[in-house]
Amino acid sequence: MINEFLEALNDQYNEMVAIRRYLHQHPELSFKEVNTAKYIKSFYEELGIEVRGNVGGNGVVAKVYGKNPGKTVALRADFDALPIQDEKDVPYRSTVPGIMHACGHDGHTATLLVLARTLNEWKEQLAGTFVFIHQHAEEYAPGGAVTMIEDGCLDGVDAIFGTHLWASEPTGKIQYRKLPIMAAADRFVITVQGKGGHGAQPHKTKDAIVIASQLVLNLQQIVSRRVSPVDSAVVTIGSFTAENAFNVIADKAKLVGTVRTFNENTRAFIEEEIEKITYGTCFTSGSTFEYDYVKGYPAVVNHSAETDFLISCANKISEVNSVEETEPDMGGEDFAYYLQKVPGTFFFTGARPTDAETAYPHHHPRFDIDENAMLVAAKTLARAAITYNVKTEV
Ligand code: MN
Repeated sequence: MINEFLEALNDQYNEMVAIRRYLHQHPELSFKEVNTAKYIKSFYEELGIEVRGNVGGNGVVAKVYGKNPGKTVALRADFDALPIQDEKDVPYRSTVPGIMHACGHDGHTATLLVLARTLNEWKEQLAGTFVFIHQHAEEYAPGGAVTMIEDGCLDGVDAIFGTHLWASEPTGKIQYRKLPIMAAADRFVITVQGKGGHGAQPHKTKDAIVIASQLVLNLQQIVSRRVSPVDSAVVTIGSFTAENAFNVIADKAKLVGTVRTFNENTRAFIEEEIEKITYGTCFTSGSTFEYDYVKGYPAVVNHSAETDFLISCANKISEVNSVEETEPDMGGEDFAYYLQKVPGTFFFTGARPTDAETAYPHHHPRFDIDENAMLVAAKTLARAAITYNVKTEV
């Protein structure tokens, strides 16, 4: 039965493309996706599928019940766009100035909608319950996942699967990873308060530039000397400002940086170490500081059993010609929060445009996907959702 179902998805491909292109032309920013949410909800309402809107914000959750009893499997797609001007020369280019789907979330949504409709058509032959989580605001922390979970989107869910169309890899490739696949991405700001003065009289000042320079170097000890070499982490200072005249000693210097980690203990440890080192550096120079650590999304930590299961599903899809383990990506994703609550896995579906001229990285003004990848994503998710109940061939 599963193979016939996957065959049936082929006939839905044009519809997937049409929906994706409509969404591509009508992008909306994180937390402002009112019309996209309305579009998704109407899609389900017109089919008579159980659907709930305004879930934790602009989120939409739909449910399809298989005829036979079984487990409840959730599939998630995000639907927000980015504040980027679409510079592509295609008929489906964004119609909204300064906003575009530059990360493929339009493709995620089209894939999930069409898959949901097909599962609904086949429900008499299916077991278990299928939950379709259409998540708003993935691109902008605190994101939509937390409030959707608080509003019950995972209630009764036994497992969750999600994918990201991945433009750096060719269509036909599925990339998985057990344990962390994406990093926790945090931001910190340190303001060093020294004492300014005349450039010719340094002994009467506390030079904020010299103190902050020392601090930048001291912070490098965290990863090199304090984090275990078998763990991995990044502490980067991306911005150092202390604007002043050439003959004036700076009163204040500001450092802004990012911390990337895969382990919650390491994450908390680094947050504390930054403060200790900043305190020590400022103390020895007689200056003071302000420190603000802003947490982004936690690491996306996949569950081993569900990842093994996903690998076996992907290997059975005829359009998939490569299933490989990926290096963890240092970017963030709020799919992390679902995996803290229920078992599941998040994987990448290769979606690189075949024409090298049109292949650009995510969040680029000319970003696009190979739309054929939506069918690969739909089939892999379908096999996972349908067979999770059975775990053997049906
Ligand atoms: Mn994304």
